[in-house]
Amino acid sequence: MPADFDTIVNLAKNRGFVFQSSEIYGGLRSAYDYGPLGVALLRNVKDLWWRSMVQTRDDIVGIDSAVIQSPKVWEASGHLSSFSDPLVECTNCNARHRLDKLDDPNQCPTCGMRDTFTEPKDFNLMFETHMGPVASADNAVYLRPATAQGIFINFENIRRTARMKLPFGIAQIGKSFRNEITPGQFVFRTREFEQMEMEFFCHPDESAKWLDYWLNERRRWYEDLGMTADNLRLRAHDADELSHYSAGTYDVEYKFPWGWDELEGIANRTDFDLSAHARLSGKDLTYFDAEADERFFPHVIEPAAGATRTTFAFLIDAYGEEEVRGETRVVLKLDKRLAPNKVAVLPLSKKPELVEITQRVAGPLREKWDIEVDVTQSIGKRYRRQDEIGTPYCVTVDFDSLEDQQVTVRDRDTMAQDRVPIEGLMRHLDDKLAG
Ligand code: ATP
Repeated sequence: MPADFDTIVNLAKNRGFVFQSSEIYGGLRSAYDYGPLGVALLRNVKDLWWRSMVQTRDDIVGIDSAVIQSPKVWEASGHLSSFSDPLVECTNCNARHRLDKLDDPNQCPTCGMRDTFTEPKDFNLMFETHMGPVASADNAVYLRPATAQGIFINFENIRRTARMKLPFGIAQIGKSFRNEITPGQFVFRTREFEQMEMEFFCHPDESAKWLDYWLNERRRWYEDLGMTADNLRLRAHDADELSHYSAGTYDVEYKFPWGWDELEGIANRTDFDLSAHARLSGKDLTYFDAEADERFFPHVIEPAAGATRTTFAFLIDAYGEEEVRGETRVVLKLDKRLAPNKVAVLPLSKKPELVEITQRVAGPLREKWDIEVDVTQSIGKRYRRQDEIGTPYCVTVDFDSLEDQQVTVRDRDTMAQDRVPIEGLMRHLDDKLAG
């Protein structure tokens, strides 16, 4: 059964994936804190992205650039002049809306009145702050609205020091900030979020080929991590949707409970950024191909994904409800690599002799994986809790374990149980978790 929005949000809040930020003060709208399970899931998403984009490739390297950069960066990139949304205000109820997101551009969705909108005004989405003790127009700086520009301004540093030859990429994961007019749908659109972006530099003649390549690669990444293929699609932007820098953009879209929406944008940015930074900085950001004796600005293909948004999509996609012996079982069928905890160790009782052997079983597992030891409530309730948070394996320690030195390993998806010697438990779980 597909998950409905409220069910997922409740699960996320009640199980400690995501909390409303500043909850004890009534909550700060559109800001969220990731709890113990959420931080583990988010970290797994980011690690798996990094593994596929950087670690397992010899043509992509990483960077971690500053959140606050020279304002010149945003002047060159066009963010100061055109990173804005058209905003209209209803003269009847004063609600503000993004013109491009309205179903009917003449009707206010808040109060229902028609023809009450003001003329659209451009609203810049960058958060502004000031560097130094006195706030003045001279020391205005901005929180980055995307991680990409930190890559472009380091293009030459990285090409030179990492001795990269075209085609090559630079990847970055980090926080970005946008003063969104219409945040919402839980962590889907927030004002502070995390991105996973990679800029792939290539010869201008090869940009179409690489765009195609990255469209396939990125779709495959989601599917490989278990996202339902039917819930994923690639959508080409129409000409009127294209950003000022783009010669072609596709969105990887996911079928969210409210409909298809963007997970990742994959754009052909041409040489827009490098040539703009070269112009404003006066630095040479061209590339010299010694073999072809040719100097040019590389073109760029950019797969830009949201780490927090993708984490939410994985949560939605993994959610399932099943009938088991007349009862409903909620289970998060997260890919094992994504699951926050890989194993839960559950002693059948709190008796000291079982607790002692449980610690002995859990110790070595803890060295290798995120695990949890749970001694509360009945075993049935504990299984259900682990199913709900997506733990792939439960290891149950019972009184027989004291005699035969064996434990029971229960599989989240099939609920099948195997009796396994404690001595061989690590290897058993290692095989299962790798498979
Ligand atoms: P949208 O149209 O949804 O506002 P965008 O096209 O402006 O997104 P990009 O600039 O392409 O987004 O950013 C790349 C990715 O960063 C998006 O696909 C999304 O996953 C993520 N992202 C962008 N804005 C937000 C946000 N406010 N909250 C969470 N994630 C975001």
